[in-house]
Amino acid sequence: MVTVHQDGQEIGTYPLEKEQTISIPYGEDGYNLLFISNGEASISDADCPDGLCVRQRAISHNGESIICLPHKLVIQISAGKEKELDAFIY
Ligand SMILES: [Zn+2]
Repeated sequence: MVTVHQDGQEIGTYPLEKEQTISIPYGEDGYNLLFISNGEASISDADCPDGLCVRQRAISHNGESIICLPHKLVIQISAGKEKELDAFIY
């Protein structure tokens, strides 16, 4: 799952399995576009002044995050790909 926090508030949780684009509004006319595909999440577009979130790599593993400081946005993987469970097989 990918969890979205804005300004410290959780605003949504989305499954990584389903390909979709989620528009996250910020303020009057700001936005970030969260793109989920192939079990990865990334910011495909945003109008924040620095644009750093758009350039961050796609995330897919538990604990990874993409942060947009100007929009106070935190995208975080809350449970990663199933292959990580391999570590518990013995
Ligand atoms: Zn940004």
